[in-house]
Amino acid sequence: MISAPALLRDLLRCPSVTPADGGAQAVLIAALEGLGFTVTKLRFGEIENFFAERPGPGKHLCFAGHTDVVPPGEGWSHDPFAAEEEQGVIFGRGAVDMKGGIAAFVAAAAQTPGHVSLLITGDEEGEAEDGSVRVLAWLAAQGIRPDFCVVGEPTSRARLGDVVKIGRRGSLNARLTVHGRQGHAAYPHLADNAVHKFLPLLTALANARLDEGTDAFEPSTLQITSVDVGNAVTNVIPGSATARLNIRFNDLHSGASLTAWLGEAIARHAPGADLQVSVSGESFRSPPSDGLAALLRAVERVTGLAPEQNTGGGTSDARFIARYCPVAEFGLVGATMHKVDEAVPVADLLTLTEIYKALIAEVCA
Ligand SMILES: [Zn+2]
Repeated sequence: MISAPALLRDLLRCPSVTPADGGAQAVLIAALEGLGFTVTKLRFGEIENFFAERPGPGKHLCFAGHTDVVPPGEGWSHDPFAAEEEQGVIFGRGAVDMKGGIAAFVAAAAQTPGHVSLLITGDEEGEAEDGSVRVLAWLAAQGIRPDFCVVGEPTSRARLGDVVKIGRRGSLNARLTVHGRQGHAAYPHLADNAVHKFLPLLTALANARLDEGTDAFEPSTLQITSVDVGNAVTNVIPGSATARLNIRFNDLHSGASLTAWLGEAIARHAPGADLQVSVSGESFRSPPSDGLAALLRAVERVTGLAPEQNTGGGTSDARFIARYCPVAEFGLVGATMHKVDEAVPVADLLTLTEIYKALIAEVCA
């Protein structure tokens, strides 16, 4: 019998900081093969990934997750890779994001019949280029299309079961550079101050209201994250200035529409400024599906909570999966994710196992 806490401890002891795997996927593969899963290892570049599938009754339920973790950083009260337990709480980098979710799903699959698969990547916290995107392309080439996919990210906010994510905002980063002409501060008529040229544009961007939000999404937001002149002295008028910004956007926008909007703002407020854009994820929203309904019922049956359906937070691999099949995200309470002393209560692992069991039973009925 596989228990989620025991499997989680084994996974936490593998230091799988992206792109390293640290032996984490071998731990999972051994457990899954013991449960009758057929495992296909899918290494792309330096990234380990795998797809594991077990035949069974009912519709095909896929669980998607990542074994990689963010670096632990300094200041932990417990070794981040020792899986120490104190008063019913297990500490370790990845405890909630998201080795705990994976362990709970494997334990649930061990106890519940059904046509179940796992899509496991080692590249979610990094560039995400050699992970889920490529595994999904491989699945499509094999003609495998799950009926529903649940991503085990830590979506719960205050209590396990209070939030299910049905979409995510997109994220765009831009770098703006305004050019002027350097000169002596005492002779401004001979110079062209890049900062002065920049201010109207920065003010317009900082004050912009992109939208009012929708029924599923918060309003989109723009944050200027850096303004850089690099001027070490007091008597030089700067010849150029650079700023960076990040936009978190809902499905009223796309990376392309926002790039065009930034171009218009430049033309109006600082003509000639350079613009470089990188879109790290488009927004998406999962349409209602049988799988989502089953997930909501499973959460409510086990926890008594009617989960809020929400689209907040950063990007996740669900944005890639949404192009292939219906998807939603549900997992542990994320309060400690990416933080010092990341930790999960054993009780939450056991409850999450019960929820995933109920989900498998619903989808694979
Ligand atoms: Zn995660």
